[in-house]
Amino acid sequence: DVILSVRNLTANVEGQQILKGLTLEVKAGEIHAIMGQNGSGKSTFSKLLAGHPAYEVTGGEVTFLGQNLLELEPEERALAGIFLAFQYPLEIPGVSNLDFLRVAYNSRRKHQGLEEIDTFDFEDLIEEKLEIVKMNPSFLERSLNEGFSGGEKKRNEILQMALLEPKLAILDETDSGLDIDALKIVANGVSQLATSDNAMILITHYQRMLNYIEPDYVHVMAGGRILKTGGKELALELESRGYDWVIEEAAAEV
Ligand code: ADP
Ligand code: MG
Ligand code: MG
Repeated sequence: DVILSVRNLTANVEGQQILKGLTLEVKAGEIHAIMGQNGSGKSTFSKLLAGHPAYEVTGGEVTFLGQNLLELEPEERALAGIFLAFQYPLEIPGVSNLDFLRVAYNSRRKHQGLEEIDTFDFEDLIEEKLEIVKMNPSFLERSLNEGFSGGEKKRNEILQMALLEPKLAILDETDSGLDIDALKIVANGVSQLATSDNAMILITHYQRMLNYIEPDYVHVMAGGRILKTGGKELALELESRGYDWVIEEAAAEV
């Protein structure tokens, strides 16, 4: 029941080492929060998992459902069940949200050896999923993310996730820039999607999202590795004390 296993991962961006020995194991049914200062490598880690070409792995191992993740193309990773909700979701003019979702959903079905979904069945399905993020069906007819507010983009990311039912969802600062009501909707949506056979990695700067989604583990990332791991109470401690003490504590142990 190990979904993701990362061992001593090192990676470069533009020839500069950003990840410096990251180790993390995520099992089915678990929610992991990763917190840390700006520039600590959180987005690098999430984009690397999704297969972004700018990130060059220089050492270590990553297995996803027992398979070497690093040898899969980005599309293959998505089809295998990795989902990354971007910190800054892309706008794609001219592609309707509904078409985008249907193509993504059908690709996943095809990968699972299933036939394309009937158009009417898809509409029923998507209506059910819209409820989870309390989105108005009119959003389906609009171009993907074009002119969406920050909160609407984030809700749309969760809608994609609800539809694709990934095995591992990585949410990179999905809570940033959301007002309290939007945060509640997004966080409750994410909570509803957590099951005993999937897993989630929530990257966040703030404790506030964790009031709605209870993490099993909270990790502190600094300098491209995970320096400390605790339970949900660690997030509260970080909120009040900041990150420096974690870095000092780790330095003292060496
Ligand atoms: P975080 O998400 O924790 O704030 P990032 O992973 O975005 O941190 O960034 C970690 C470091 O890697 C930063 O110093 C950042 O400038 C650098 N970095 C990330 N992506 C790129 C890139 N595409 N080109 C150059 N530097 C990058
Ligand atoms: Mg950041
Ligand atoms: Mg980031």
